[in-house]
Amino acid sequence: MVVVLRRDVPQEKIAPLIRWLEDKSLSVRVFQGQEQCVLGLIGDTAKVDVEMIKSLDIVESVAAMSDPFKASNRQMHPEDSVINITSPDQLEHAIGGGKFALIAGPCSVESREQLTGVAKAVKAAGANFLRGGAFKPRSSPYDFQGLGEEGIDLLLEAKKATGLPIVTELMEVHSLHLFEEVDVIQVGARNTQNYDLLRELGKVPNTILLKRGLAGTIKELLMSAEYIMAGGNENVILCERGIRTYESAYTRNTLDLSAVPVLKTLTHLPVVVDPSHGTGRADLVPSMAFAAAAAGADGLMIEVHNDPKQALCDGAQSLTPDQFSETAAKIFKIREALGL
Ligand code: PEP
Ligand code: MN
Repeated sequence: MVVVLRRDVPQEKIAPLIRWLEDKSLSVRVFQGQEQCVLGLIGDTAKVDVEMIKSLDIVESVAAMSDPFKASNRQMHPEDSVINITSPDQLEHAIGGGKFALIAGPCSVESREQLTGVAKAVKAAGANFLRGGAFKPRSSPYDFQGLGEEGIDLLLEAKKATGLPIVTELMEVHSLHLFEEVDVIQVGARNTQNYDLLRELGKVPNTILLKRGLAGTIKELLMSAEYIMAGGNENVILCERGIRTYESAYTRNTLDLSAVPVLKTLTHLPVVVDPSHGTGRADLVPSMAFAAAAAGADGLMIEVHNDPKQALCDGAQSLTPDQFSETAAKIFKIREALGL
């Protein structure tokens, strides 16, 4: 249930109402906008006398919330969430509410030279986050599984060298202690519904980038975000990365760009698009990145490798630094042309 208060109601009049609602064993989420305050009630709202609340002079309206996702729901938080990430450099690393995140880097961290070289190149092209997998969820146990802890160390070195905040995937709870200095913890498509993992991530201070499951619906993605937010971590970024459809011959996944405006309507959380995993083909990445930016995505995650043919993982979908630079310039132009 959502209680919208009248404009400019003083705090001292809001606090008793919150206390009264909390006494009914409801959890109350307070959204304080520029002028208006919205109270989101989570729990058994059947106990609440709606007519009584409506009659209060500080209340403008009361609406039921039928969606099962509550904390991420835009009804509870009408303005876009903006997630600020502090990093050693002076550049802006915010995402949401008009702030755009360009996340780029290799699929896997392979070596110091590879990572630092790519990090410097993507930063020069305008990227404001560095990605790279240290723990890799590979379809075959015989493929490169990532450098693990050493990969995290190399990411932290690259962060120091470039000032770029880092994004890297956590595959299981036991590695969490290695992620303390990781700015954005990625939950991969294979773990989107690993509820134990999500619950743990509800307790950490890091921002979480939550990917859509391989065959996940939009509602399932939002319910997974809810697991993290219910634990107290509000800093969640959603990522559309393509889903399984009948098509498998010409694209790795089917990138669902309609998910961007759908999610932007349903939730206040930032939405990014990953056209690399979404298509599996480097030649398709620029056009899908442009389309995603035009569709209103709050960011893009793009795989970039110094030598895609020799990449240990996902070379076929990786751009070279030059291709990335050209693509990034056009992404910025598209956003500017559309006034985004
Ligand atoms: C990745 O980003 O490297 C990755 C493994 O992505 P996904 O979970 O979307 O397959
Ligand atoms: Mn990859």
